[in-house]
Amino acid sequence: MANPSLLILPGDGIGPEVMAEVRKVIDWFGTRGLAFDVEEDLVGGAAYDAHATPLADATMEKAHGVDAVLLGAVGGPKYDVLDFSVKPERGLLRLRKEMDLYANLRPAQCFDALADFSSLKRDVVAGLDIMIVRELTSGVYFGEPRGIHTEGNERVGINTQRYTESEIARVARSAFELARKRANRVCSMEKANVMESGILWREVVQEVHDREYQDVELSHMYADAGAMQLTRWPKQFDVIVTDNLFGDLLSDLAAMLTGSLGMLPSASLGAPMANGRPKALYEPVHGSAPDIAGQGKANPIACILSFAMALRYSFDLGDEATRVEKAVEAVLADGLRTADLIGEEGRAPVTTQEMGDAIVARLAAG
Ligand code: NAD
Repeated sequence: MANPSLLILPGDGIGPEVMAEVRKVIDWFGTRGLAFDVEEDLVGGAAYDAHATPLADATMEKAHGVDAVLLGAVGGPKYDVLDFSVKPERGLLRLRKEMDLYANLRPAQCFDALADFSSLKRDVVAGLDIMIVRELTSGVYFGEPRGIHTEGNERVGINTQRYTESEIARVARSAFELARKRANRVCSMEKANVMESGILWREVVQEVHDREYQDVELSHMYADAGAMQLTRWPKQFDVIVTDNLFGDLLSDLAAMLTGSLGMLPSASLGAPMANGRPKALYEPVHGSAPDIAGQGKANPIACILSFAMALRYSFDLGDEATRVEKAVEAVLADGLRTADLIGEEGRAPVTTQEMGDAIVARLAAG
């Protein structure tokens, strides 16, 4: 059987630095009989510098041809002056759009060693492990009509929340499938009390559940109540599925339960390809961090955990993914901290490379 294939797009700023550490993890698996076919290419400002576009057509083609894409980060002050159409972020948006990545997975996981970094009390967040599934390609950010019009003597801003049954059903399936690999519980969030699109959302999620996923426990919650519950007792949740707008807010809220931006991975998944694997893009939540780029200060863990998500969700290698997560957990428990994780403890920080090496050493130690 062919090796699983990966397209790596390090991007800009700290992107290449954190991705170099992911390469060490990938190479380690290679020495253990799990080799990946890895291609690397340009995205964002780096692609603009080389090709005057943030994502070359040839790179887009490659993205369509591989099992999964792993991206670092894009952007930087150097590119702020560029026209909107060629800004680094457009490269990322093109990937998401052309791969039709409709399910955005944002885990919020709190490693015990970092529980004091949260703004919530330790016992509320320690051991937290939840997953927010946000619909990414429809809803109010895309619905028509939209725009700013003049009515009478004042302007009116308009956006439209619009969801079709099939758009709701496919992201609901993603959530139920995920739940089966986790604690088997899904909570769907909308505003069915005040929005028709919310009523349809609730009905369709329930129908998909009753027809195809009766083994998964399903509950429904209004999104505003969900936000309160997420800060009150987040451990009550396993998988949360919600629309684009509420998902945008709730996933950021949940992310901050866990502390640093340098720790947060994400995945964006689309429809299954011919080989049964979903179209997939994995990337850390953070950006290119120009303020620390090139200084060896970046935390590579978000990017390494994004690769762990690829192992689990693209390649069905859950044990290997857990192994990476456990190695990260062990290194943190050993007290290693990149600069972003130095709180009041006053430890000396390790560099990006030292953190990557320590994680690989822990992997090797089993
Ligand atoms: P950012 O995430 O790059 O940085 C915010 C803060 O967090 C900075 O102080 C940074 O040093 C720190 N930080 C981020 N990642 C870190 C890591 N791995 N380790 C240690 N510290 C880390 O957000 P920003 O400053 O708002 O944006 C910078 C650039 O990144 C902009 O050009 C923006 O458009 C772009 N951006 C890209 C993405 C992406 O590629 N997905 C996401 C957000 C922002």
